[in-house]
Amino acid sequence: MEGRDPKNGKRERTAAVVLAAGRGKRMRSDVPKQYMLLNGRPLICYALKAFQDSFIDEIVLVVEAGEEERCRKEFLEPYGFSKVTAVTAGGKERYDSVANGLKKVSPDCGYIFIHDGARPFVTEEILKRALETVREHKACVAAMPVKDTIRIADENGFSLSTPRRDRVWLMQTPQVFEAGLIRAAYGRLLQEADSLAAQGIPITDDAMAVETLLHHPVRLFAASYENIKVTTPEDLITAQGFLKRIDPFREKS
Ligand code: C5P
Repeated sequence: MEGRDPKNGKRERTAAVVLAAGRGKRMRSDVPKQYMLLNGRPLICYALKAFQDSFIDEIVLVVEAGEEERCRKEFLEPYGFSKVTAVTAGGKERYDSVANGLKKVSPDCGYIFIHDGARPFVTEEILKRALETVREHKACVAAMPVKDTIRIADENGFSLSTPRRDRVWLMQTPQVFEAGLIRAAYGRLLQEADSLAAQGIPITDDAMAVETLLHHPVRLFAASYENIKVTTPEDLITAQGFLKRIDPFREKS
């Protein structure tokens, strides 16, 4: 059973922190992208449904300050997302939002899954793979190998170098950690954020926080090329295409 460690049979409580506090400027829309409709449903509902229908025990939803009540009324209650134990306000940067979400996770959770609410196509299969990997390595990230060649450019746009394609992965979410490890990383990050920014070290995801601040290795695991982050208008068209094949709401209704 997913919630139980096969080695010792212990039931571990698992939590998801689902992030939906970004402004989504690259979408060039008045409606924040997490509330844009995809097949008639707010984008954020797809990720919430994946966690609701999985082995995850509790979900903390992070939204823009002031949106908490609207979210409860407009989709948490109507869709019956009963595993959502807290809706909390995010912050200026993604890491501020994660830090606020972590504070609302129950202290007895063993593993914490951090997920971009703008990734609607996370599946139970991906969540299971993440749980197996985090049990072994304590820190892991959903990712996929790149398909195109990647070039590193200099500040003038001239090609500098080409990393080996078989070693370059696109980072996705969920990013999953032992609870103590991610809490320690974020504790340090909040203290050191200004000095890291001054050194030009941006922390754009959770894995970077764990690697940079705790020097703990992070294992990548293959998720899916469909696990896209809806960021720009063309991503919405791609997402609509995926939904023609499989719509999690239609499938089970
Ligand atoms: O900006 P980006 O696309 O990397 O955001 C990834 C996820 O993090 C999105 O789901 C977004 O809503 C969330 N986010 C957040 N708080 C921020 C910035 C981003 O919750 N300050």
